[in-house]
Amino acid sequence: MFDVIIVGGSYAGVSAGLQLARARRKVLVIDAGQRRNRFADHSHGFLGQDGRHPGAIADEARAQLLAYPTVEWRTQSAVSATRQGAAFAVTTSDGAHFAAKRLILASGVVDELPDVPGLAQRWGQRVFHCPYCHGYELDGGPIGVLAASPLAIHHALMLPDWGPTTFFLNGVFEPDADQWAQLRKRGVQVENERVVSVDGEHADVTLASGRVIPLAGLFTQPRTRMASPLPALLGCVFEDGPMGPFIKVDAMRETSVPGVFACGDAAVAAGNVAIAVGDGARTGGAAHHSLIFRD
Ligand code: FAD
Ligand code: MG
Repeated sequence: MFDVIIVGGSYAGVSAGLQLARARRKVLVIDAGQRRNRFADHSHGFLGQDGRHPGAIADEARAQLLAYPTVEWRTQSAVSATRQGAAFAVTTSDGAHFAAKRLILASGVVDELPDVPGLAQRWGQRVFHCPYCHGYELDGGPIGVLAASPLAIHHALMLPDWGPTTFFLNGVFEPDADQWAQLRKRGVQVENERVVSVDGEHADVTLASGRVIPLAGLFTQPRTRMASPLPALLGCVFEDGPMGPFIKVDAMRETSVPGVFACGDAAVAAGNVAIAVGDGARTGGAAHHSLIFRD
């Protein structure tokens, strides 16, 4: 019996695990190895690691965690989880079963990208969702915003800080009078024509008429969904975020299911690496406290 099983061994999960390992607790991390940012070669905005390869940050953190003798790691998908008395049973895709007194769900989200030819291949390289993560490296643009959700207007109004911006409505978004005024004030170029494809060395946009708008990079608003089925299988309550559902947690990062905690992208409206690491540290501590002070 483990004290805690952590599902998801990336920034949030490993950060949670570190607190528990340092409390000499028995921890199992189950991780499928599909970090959300695996499409990018550089991670930006995380203190002390700015610009480093996202995999290198995660690998070093995992090695530091696994140096603690009470931590085990399985490279597997967790496929189910159930409550069994006061404990939880977790099954992995190879049919193995594990039990723990507490669960931490740090399994992240999956991005559902707009279905435009050429876009998915450039995801994390020239097509992004987060200006703070990748806007600076576009060296002042030109920059495109492809509307995919009502959040598009926020992107369109933000991105002029990173370079001259063209907003592709693509039949998805129609600004109201106030928004047109704001777009004008921010100097945003607006295109009504349908986007046919994203091409070229960077992220040039080809419109229905055949016109090509050369761009250094393109921003869009993917819909996110839970990467793991476990939160739903356990009956966790979700909240509706602007990009998709996330797990509802209380101030101690405990979900609506007692004994099940959640952190990182799976449990915040909009996450990044720094937030995942901070959230994980808080959650690892909270799960540890619950082991001591509750029964
Ligand atoms: P993740 O890193 O997504 O890790 C979740 C882990 O859980 C994965 O390893 C996954 O395989 C595992 N998992 C899921 N389901 C299961 C299961 N059933 N069983 C076992 N394991 C499971 N943020 C920044 O701060 N700076 C950046 O520059 C940046 N660039 C980005 C670029 C791109 C293209 C994208 C999409 C995101 C970027 N982000 C960036 C955001 C960042 O990737 C996330 O905020 C961060 O990865 C969240 O960490 P996490 O630990 O919560 O989830
Ligand atoms: Mg990059």
